[in-house]
Amino acid sequence: MPEWGTERQHLIEKAKVVVIGAGGVKSTLLMSLTAVGIGKIRIVEFDKVEISNLNRQLLYSTDNIGLSKAECCEKRLRDLNPNSTIELVNEKIDSSNIESLCDDFDFVVEGGDSPASRNLVNEFCLSKQIPFTHASAQFNYGYVFSVIPMLKTACFACFFPKDHSRNETTGPVPVSVLSTSIAGSLGASEVLKWFMGYHDSMFVNRRLCFSSLLLSSEFTVKEQSRNPGCPICARYY
Ligand SMILES: [Zn+2]
Repeated sequence: MPEWGTERQHLIEKAKVVVIGAGGVKSTLLMSLTAVGIGKIRIVEFDKVEISNLNRQLLYSTDNIGLSKAECCEKRLRDLNPNSTIELVNEKIDSSNIESLCDDFDFVVEGGDSPASRNLVNEFCLSKQIPFTHASAQFNYGYVFSVIPMLKTACFACFFPKDHSRNETTGPVPVSVLSTSIAGSLGASEVLKWFMGYHDSMFVNRRLCFSSLLLSSEFTVKEQSRNPGCPICARYY
């Protein structure tokens, strides 16, 4: 493809990405990033595979039930592309380990299922000037956006001002494989746009939202400029 080419493929080979979580959205995202040949991917995931995961978490199969997601995921991705370096970290990300987990990487993908991890990643990436993508799906809908701290773009807390406590308040919600797969593909495209140099087409200061309802599908873009009163990015910009 002319917009891809050998030169950009080499940029992808040098890329180092941390992905927080390896659930539904990240299944599609991780398989996409591995298949295209991202050079190094570190996966931070502490959960075990359950039967209820299998309707959307495409990395796993019935013989993985009860096993560590990180280990199953690593094997699946290594089998998919042995030329990518896949590292697993069987830990929950928190304020004590985030620096050692992310500091040597060029890009972070998050979308964790708790406000605590989302806001932790947001603040860490702002403080270290590491770009990141948030890719998320719930029920029949989802959204994707990116934050580029060196360009002072809207941060996670600008998008979700009521979600910047570090409380672990959210629980599991229903989600379909259609939503997780779309969000995973859109998230992977944000990562590739960053490394291939297509920064202008990334979803920064705007959020790409979709609905994968069986009877009415739609994509919409919601603009979100940086909130000058945002208490989070104001500390770093
Ligand atoms: Zn902000």
